[in-house]
Amino acid sequence: MPTYEFRCRTCEDTFDVQRPMSESSSPASCPAGHPDTVKLLSMAGIGGTQQAAPGGGGGGCCGGGCCG
Ligand SMILES: [Zn+2]
Repeated sequence: MPTYEFRCRTCEDTFDVQRPMSESSSPASCPAGHPDTVKLLSMAGIGGTQQAAPGGGGGGCCGGGCCG
């Protein structure tokens, strides 16, 4: 049974969950009981955090509408 890694957005803890692949997209609660968790791509095994940059994110301010 594959192991999936989750991160709690409430306490920012990471934890592993063993579950069948058919339930890989099901939500998981963190050990502290917080339901707001995100699934990490533990399959990559690179060790870096993958962050989706919404809009601009970096140095520009044109992504958030503050230029317009
Ligand atoms: Zn938590």
